[in-house]
Amino acid sequence: MRILVTGGAGFIGSAVCRLLAANPQNHVINVDKLTYAGNLTSLRQIENYPNYRFVEGDICDDIAVLGLLRSEKIEAIMHLAAESHVDRSIDGPAAFIETNIVGTFRLLNAALTYWRELPSDAKNAFRFHHISTDEVFGDLPFDSGIFTEETPYAPSSPYSASKAASDHLVRAWHETYGLPVVLSNCSNNYGPFHFPEKLIPLVILNALDGKPLPVYGAGANVRDWLYVEDHARALEVVVTKGAVGQNYNIGGHNEKTNLNVVETICDILDQKRPRKGGRRYRDLITFVSDRPGHDRRYAIDASKIERDLGWKPLETFETGLAKTIDWYLANEWWWEPIRSGRYAGERLGADVKG
Ligand code: NAD
Repeated sequence: MRILVTGGAGFIGSAVCRLLAANPQNHVINVDKLTYAGNLTSLRQIENYPNYRFVEGDICDDIAVLGLLRSEKIEAIMHLAAESHVDRSIDGPAAFIETNIVGTFRLLNAALTYWRELPSDAKNAFRFHHISTDEVFGDLPFDSGIFTEETPYAPSSPYSASKAASDHLVRAWHETYGLPVVLSNCSNNYGPFHFPEKLIPLVILNALDGKPLPVYGAGANVRDWLYVEDHARALEVVVTKGAVGQNYNIGGHNEKTNLNVVETICDILDQKRPRKGGRRYRDLITFVSDRPGHDRRYAIDASKIERDLGWKPLETFETGLAKTIDWYLANEWWWEPIRSGRYAGERLGADVKG
């Protein structure tokens, strides 16, 4: 399949590009604006593959995107480009509105123009896959409830509100114009190549540096974690086998409190890289004031994608976390330049979105 991936230099997009490009039957075009979150070194493994191409570009530039769809004869779009960091959306929501809402609108327009030009068999086969988050469903109580595909939207942060808006636009382009779309809403991701401002890499790297390990509030907020390569496999299944107009929840049945996540990382590091003087990494845990509008709990019911499309995660939280820690221990070349830049110690609060 000839696939245009937007945001392929980001955390999840790069995992998707690496997965898709490993199959010589695929042709992968990665369009990315290279914001602070875009990193081409995450694509080093595939950068010289003949079936992979990177194009620096903005999804808001619908003329350029349309030209690319035509010249590359694209058969599917996997739309991951977004502003994705919740804390940043609180400090400065404008970029979130611009890329997540206006950008998705412009991408849909380019896709629709292109799709209308296709011959009928190619038209039927074309897919616009919109990749979204479980945060659009809002806040769950600590002790009950789970997000299904029917859960009403109730976003709490500027980030999740902008993603909710983009989900609605994608559905409307299907209902109104017939564009063949599929949507997926996934829980928190973690794994290799995760930007060091996010909770799991921040905790691993701060621990190795002997710095405080920030935990919002009492650390009681619950997130449902999925290893990024399991998410990438799920996205490949959705774009190739998903039913047009449907949305699929993706998650790994791994509900953990933030404190539990941080403590588990500490305990694994105690084994893999013991601190000097018999000290424990847990001693570095520091509670910081809570984020405004901080959702208590997210939990995903992934039974639809498991039942209808046969996808299942391969990693448990424990195996995925151990792999992730091993990866950060072995790949300082990737994270050190980012970490030594303006993000090192910039904030105490860590983002708990993936
Ligand atoms: P990320 O921030 O790591 O990557 C986003 C990428 O988009 C970056 O490479 C950035 O340069 C690019 N980008 C931003 N604005 C752009 C624009 N206007 N034009 C072109 N490229 C642009 O994000 P991520 O964590 O990889 O998330 C990818 C997608 O998955 C997002 O849509 C996000 O909402 C969704 N998602 C993320 C998680 C998670 O836990 N990280 C979970 C569920 C869904």
